Amino acid sequence: MTEQTLFIVKPDGVERKLVGDIISKFEHKGFSILKLKMFTFTKQMAEEFYAAHNTKPFFGELVSFITSGNVVAAIVEGNNAIATTRLMIGSTKSFDAAPGTIRGDFGLGISDNIIHASDSKESFEKEIAVVFK
Ligand code: ADP
Ligand code: MG
Repeated sequence: MTEQTLFIVKPDGVERKLVGDIISKFEHKGFSILKLKMFTFTKQMAEEFYAAHNTKPFFGELVSFITSGNVVAAIVEGNNAIATTRLMIGSTKSFDAAPGTIRGDFGLGISDNIIHASDSKESFEKEIAVVFK
């Protein structure tokens, strides 16, 4: 099932110069890169992007972190893209993420967990409306 999804290399991933390695992983896996964009989230964009989390205790920290520097967003396409990409990024807490996953291989943080990826088609549609409008 050919599908599209969005991933975003977060400010910590850009700062640590992991963009090339991360894009390579997606290309090597077989995904096609359809769109690529470097930008910095404004507070308003971040609040809209992470609206699902706006009642969580970490929301302020999340918005402050994601607006703290440049990010690189990519729309990728391939078989089963949404679920496969979630498998590739690994679990939310990087220190807990399996080795071989992007978070598992590259980090230890929670807020600063290197990469975002859409978790459903609905999230993908909402997120690209913020990032690629
Ligand atoms: P994921 O990015 O794996 O889909 P969530 O959607 O649950 O994770 O959370 C969105 C983002 O919020 C996470 O990637 C992380 O940056 C941040 N976050 C999640 N849980 C926490 C937490 N307990 N403390 C601080 N930041 C968190
Ligand atoms: Mg999520």
